[in-house]
Amino acid sequence: MLKHSLKMLSKELEPITQEKINELLTKVLAQLPPFLQNLAKEVTFEPNELDMSGQMPEAHQKGTVIYLSEKFFDLYKDSVPVHGIIAHELGHYYKEKMKLNLNNIYSRQPPYNHLFGSLGIRGVPDTNEEEFAEAFASYFLDPAWLQQYYPEAYSALEDILANA
Ligand SMILES: [Zn+2]
Repeated sequence: MLKHSLKMLSKELEPITQEKINELLTKVLAQLPPFLQNLAKEVTFEPNELDMSGQMPEAHQKGTVIYLSEKFFDLYKDSVPVHGIIAHELGHYYKEKMKLNLNNIYSRQPPYNHLFGSLGIRGVPDTNEEEFAEAFASYFLDPAWLQQYYPEAYSALEDILANA
């Protein structure tokens, strides 16, 4: 109980500030390829003010804002590579920006044909949106893996990016 209170207190004393975000992002963005670094300039990274419990997803994208939660910083502190999370969120942003209709990319057969493979093995929910974001991140960060295991996703992304 006391531990819990202290944890709550320390979170109140140490909020995720914009300064803290900027400092961390400088390091994290440097690990991304130029295309993603440029894409990241189109969005802002802000603290997730709603993350009172620390139970929110590590990051989420809404419009041109990528919200970072306490968990994101905890992962970073634990030396978990977090640039993949940023690449994934940029995938959501890119899909919105380019107004990509995933129903056109996927088969019209309901619910979806797993063109991007079932990426659930990486802990990503099995939805078109999430698979796209994860395939997008993999295309930039682990292209050999994507090409080997999800060749259709790889070539779909190649086409999308060539026509951008
Ligand atoms: Zn996502």
